[in-house]
Amino acid sequence: MAVSDHVDLPTFMEGVKKRNPYQPEFVQAVQEVAEDIFDFMADKEQYHAQQILRRIAEPDRVVSFRVCWEDDAGNIRVQRGWRVQNNNAIGPYKGGIRFHPSVTESVLKFLAFEQTFKNALTGLPMGGGKGGSNFNPKGKSVREIMRFCQSFMTELYRHIGADVDVPAGDIGVGGREIGYMFGQYKRITNQFTGVLTGKGLEWGGSLIRTEATGYGAVYFLANMLATKGEDLTGKTAVISGSGNVATHAAEKIVQLGGKVLTLSDSGGFIHDPDGIDQEKIDWVKAHKTVRRGRIEDYVAAYPNATFVAGKTPWGVPCDVALPCATQNELLGEDAKVLVANGCKAVAEGANMPTDLDGVHIFKAAKILYAPGKASNAGGVAVSGLEMSQNSERRSWKEEELQQMLKDIMLGIHQSCLEYGDQGGGYTDYVKGANIAGFKKVADAMLAFGVV
Ligand code: NAP
Repeated sequence: MAVSDHVDLPTFMEGVKKRNPYQPEFVQAVQEVAEDIFDFMADKEQYHAQQILRRIAEPDRVVSFRVCWEDDAGNIRVQRGWRVQNNNAIGPYKGGIRFHPSVTESVLKFLAFEQTFKNALTGLPMGGGKGGSNFNPKGKSVREIMRFCQSFMTELYRHIGADVDVPAGDIGVGGREIGYMFGQYKRITNQFTGVLTGKGLEWGGSLIRTEATGYGAVYFLANMLATKGEDLTGKTAVISGSGNVATHAAEKIVQLGGKVLTLSDSGGFIHDPDGIDQEKIDWVKAHKTVRRGRIEDYVAAYPNATFVAGKTPWGVPCDVALPCATQNELLGEDAKVLVANGCKAVAEGANMPTDLDGVHIFKAAKILYAPGKASNAGGVAVSGLEMSQNSERRSWKEEELQQMLKDIMLGIHQSCLEYGDQGGGYTDYVKGANIAGFKKVADAMLAFGVV
């Protein structure tokens, strides 16, 4: 059999599993995309002949390195760091850095693969990458975090650059960590370039970058509801997480007239039947970032709320749900409960928070369901705008950026409608996002020949 002959989906996935043993998250992400792309490619010989999906599902490179650092007690600690550069067909690699003990090569490969499609959807010239470490920032002093970030960048700097690969933040990496890493990059290279995004406003950052992922997810949700003639006014929302994405999604829901009932962290979730308003969101932001506290402390500050330890919030009845914590936090059984409770729409703020069973349940129930690669693309979109501002050596105004973010989210929604329309008023947003993202990257790859 010539290698360009068509293989079917099960055979393709067998190959992916064989080549990536012990990498379940990566295999899951490829499967979710391949299910749609195989349908789309059925009558498009050029993608088969050029093995395009096979090539996108093989990262351009995976760099793994040792990160040594010294803790406050003088002990030498050793962590592993990675940068996965998945695909740069349409622009420099771009994607966040995650510091969390659950980080593995499989997790970063899945994130870099997803990022490739997400970045293409934004319409901006960005390829897909992701990086991170199994370093756990919880319980570490500020000096320890600084030393770790500096050591991480001392290895990473040789693999990145403003026109090569531009990392940003992700779980465990916020403005403070970006600052330590940018400072170290600048010190080593003696160059002030837009090599990282999510920077502080005084040193090349962009307005609204911090808010962009959560706000963008809610704009996307509002776009989906509008297709049914509805909006967020008076709607109840269940949100997971209490970090950057979750708190800004909550903020935008409140601004658009909705009522947020839950937030969570890795310890459990809080349910506030009075609604989590702006003042309470500000309390959560300060508690989680400045005080580095736990979400369970919310009930001491707001006694009408309850805390449920060790559980996710999907059992709380709601109109809309936004999973904004981490991958595989919403399982098939949770999806069934959400649908049974009358949830109309789910917009993912996190990356791959819904497992494959859950995705299939949402699709079968034909509710409005947006995968993270579409609905959480607002963050990387404003990162792309930060890169443009750095290249121009200018800072754009907040109103301009707010409008660009809204326009980009609307554009992604339109791409999903274009490729995901199933007739009868139902849009398969997963299919729409996968095909629209794939097509752009695939067509660029065709232009380059076999490289
Ligand atoms: P973050 O500020 O670090 O917050 C992460 C939140 O998720 C925290 O509440 C954390 O709880 C919770 N969490 C993390 N790992 C968990 C686990 N294994 N089980 C349960 N809860 C867990 O991170 P973030 O930037 O908001 O990112 C959240 C998600 O959005 C991630 O999937 C990320 O890839 C995605 N995303 C982020 C951006 C961005 O611009 N930041 C853009 C696109 C997508 P603890 O405090 O207990 O750890």
